Amino acid sequence: MSTANKTLEGAVKTNDGVQLSGVILQNIVEQCNGCDRVRTFEEQEFCASYPTPAKKWSQGRCNFATHIKAEASVKVKVNPLKASKRAAKGR
Ligand code: SF4
Repeated sequence: MSTANKTLEGAVKTNDGVQLSGVILQNIVEQCNGCDRVRTFEEQEFCASYPTPAKKWSQGRCNFATHIKAEASVKVKVNPLKASKRAAKGR
């Protein structure tokens, strides 16, 4: 599976680097590979959601990553179960 190279819309090249809506963007980090929010511009890769992907990952897993969602989907399944157990006990 190859990630389609989507272009970063609205980005402009400035002397300080690639800018989007007045914010200088930093390149994606290794962990971003495969994420659906990766965009290419001027043969560089950026994140469509965060100007500083490295910062996003420095605090742990990026919560917007589309390629890593195992943990999130488990949580969604566990919660309704707990809720129904609790409801059954109350009766
Ligand atoms: S959403 Fe997160 S994982 Fe995806 S490209 Fe942006 S920083 Fe990287």
